[in-house]
Amino acid sequence: MKIGILALQGAVREHAGLVEACGHEALPIKKVEALDLVDGLIIPGGESTTMRRLMDRYGFTEALRRSELPMFGTCAGLILLAENVVGSEEGHLGKLDITVERNSFGRQIDSFEADLDVRGIDEKAAAVFIRAPHITSTGTGVEILSQVEGKIVAVRSDRHLGISFHPELTDSTVFHQYFIDMVEACVQKELSVEI
Ligand code: GLN
Repeated sequence: MKIGILALQGAVREHAGLVEACGHEALPIKKVEALDLVDGLIIPGGESTTMRRLMDRYGFTEALRRSELPMFGTCAGLILLAENVVGSEEGHLGKLDITVERNSFGRQIDSFEADLDVRGIDEKAAAVFIRAPHITSTGTGVEILSQVEGKIVAVRSDRHLGISFHPELTDSTVFHQYFIDMVEACVQKELSVEI
């Protein structure tokens, strides 16, 4: 598989390293046209309002709204994928039927690490939370994969995966492998429809 990483802000190189550690190809995406070259897209963490401004400036907001690519959003990337953001009039890309709240783990503990239990995965997943959002509600077609302190921090639908934290700041490939498996399933499904 060829996995794109939206390269406007965030730990692009670290994400690429984990994709490669899973045995797949990673391509940093700086221009909209490059979206045609990949099978799936990772949207890294950073600051969601800044990323949105950059996405608007470089034409990604419209292109990604239209795109059928499987997407994996981490932290600010999760916020960008959500249909609703608490305190905002509208969401950004509206890919996942969820509501997210930003910066929801308290000021004193802006950053922490945790080993997460994830639904459908046997091993624990290492996670770094940095001014992390959480998911306050989920709608149709969304499965909850993990919770911390009773807060939802990982969800998926058929083609989209969203998590509150940064797996790319650990050496755990659990979530990248999980996403690549999703991308492979999507590609297989499309091939069987074409035949
Ligand atoms: N707090 C940031 C936001 O609201 C997200 C933080 C992150 O991506 N590490 O966009």
